[in-house]
Amino acid sequence: MDALERILSDERVTDRAARSHEPGGRCVIYRMRRAQRAHDNPALETAIAVANLLRLPVVVFFGLLRRGRAANLRHYAFMLEGITDTAARLERRGVGFVLRTCEGGYSGPEFAAFTREVRPAVVIADENALRGDRRWNREARECAPAALWSVDADVIVPGHLLGKEHFAARTIRPKIHDRIDEFLHPIGNRVVGVKWNPRRPPASLDPLENLLATLRIDRSVAAAPAFRGGTAAALAALKRFIGGGLHGYAERRNHPELDATSRLSPYLHFGHIGPHTIALAARDASVPARDRDAFLEQLIVRRELAANFTRFNPRYKSLASAEPWALRSLASHRADPRAYYYTVRELENAATHDHLWNAAQCQMVSSGWMHGYMRMYWAKKILEWSESPEAAYEIAVALNDRYELDGRDPNGYAGIAWAIAGKHDRAWGPERPIYGLVRYMSNASTSRKFRSREYIEQWEK
Ligand SMILES: Cc1cc2nc3c(=O)[nH]c(=O)nc-3n(C[C@H](O)[C@H](O)[C@H](O)COP(=O)(O)OP(=O)(O)OC[C@H]3O[C@@H](n4cnc5c(N)ncnc54)[C@H](O)[C@@H]3O)c2cc1C
Repeated sequence: MDALERILSDERVTDRAARSHEPGGRCVIYRMRRAQRAHDNPALETAIAVANLLRLPVVVFFGLLRRGRAANLRHYAFMLEGITDTAARLERRGVGFVLRTCEGGYSGPEFAAFTREVRPAVVIADENALRGDRRWNREARECAPAALWSVDADVIVPGHLLGKEHFAARTIRPKIHDRIDEFLHPIGNRVVGVKWNPRRPPASLDPLENLLATLRIDRSVAAAPAFRGGTAAALAALKRFIGGGLHGYAERRNHPELDATSRLSPYLHFGHIGPHTIALAARDASVPARDRDAFLEQLIVRRELAANFTRFNPRYKSLASAEPWALRSLASHRADPRAYYYTVRELENAATHDHLWNAAQCQMVSSGWMHGYMRMYWAKKILEWSESPEAAYEIAVALNDRYELDGRDPNGYAGIAWAIAGKHDRAWGPERPIYGLVRYMSNASTSRKFRSREYIEQWEK
């Protein structure tokens, strides 16, 4: 087996659209999408390995949409801080970086033009378990003149190896644990053999403010100053967490009034840091096994269960993604009277009777991130106060995607499906109004589990 064949047989390389490279090719393109980082990135490392074998340089292509569909200023500012950091790191490694702003809803035409300019031998794309991204990869394949391979750089066990939608954490956990030793190891960050010549074509990264100013995006949601985008900021957050919050994580993670979780979700969402880097740091930390295991369960099993949900269930943005038992149960309580009913506007403005819920909504709107324990309560109350479970699901997705920096992510869709539609959960008796057999959370019991007064005082406006 030659070296290229060996790379292709690596199970991380999902899409072997064509087995050979384009003989006259002048470079290897890495079409960067979700894994927006220069280190510990299996897709970039595959591109470098192939380029080194072919004695070619690597150039990264990043298509920036001028018109974000669901993303707003908050998301764009964070993403572009990350891209600036990543471009500088790529340059230091001898990898080219070309950003092109794209007029349409996809970067297909700009990518096609770029491939005509640089004539790639091979194109590598990273994967995203969301529906839209698979469409983008198909488009890239159609317009790339060379072979296109896609690599899952977003998770530890590549998503396609799990084969189908899994029912719950208990069914996916053994599959992940069976293969974790194979995939959880340092990514390597190879030395680049042939450096990219930046004059051909010129890199086109404008200063951040210029770029942001030219975009036709929703500017009504402000940037989130508590989170700075980029790999440097992500590594600093990881260091803080490993040195502090990880010790005691098992106990403290469900305390929203404490700052005990990693807050790495926005960085994971934009790929500024990868799960390998985080998992290896946690695995090697000197903390009690209980804390380490609890954290790795969230980072690997729960996160990869969420990616599995969106990869294999195309209805993840609606209630229709639920299991039959939950759909039946919610339907039989559709007509139950609601003690409270709120419009989207009232929810968005945190204008409910429930101070704990309002505090969670305010935390999300003002800081761009809500504590995980509160996210469960937040979504369940939207079910209780909306006219139907379908409407509740839609409202929760819209608010979550608009305000959370980590929104528009498999974790968000899986979290909402869990809270509103019992996804990855089981039926919980006794049957209750509105919820049916979907697990219920009350204000009284949720408030008692932590110092909720402190949380309300901190966040409710
Ligand atoms: C209704 C609802 C909505 C959610 N929306 C999102 C979202 O939009 N984006 C998002 O990234 N997460 C979402 N989550 C999952 C989870 O709440 C957040 O990932 C977590 O709170 C982020 O904080 P952290 O990084 O400090 O987490 P930590 O506790 O430090 O965990 C580390 C990482 O593990 C992963 N993780 C933790 N909890 C979960 C979980 N329950 N499911 C899947 N992965 C998990 C995340 O990637 C997280 O960054 C949602 C959960 C619910 C119930």
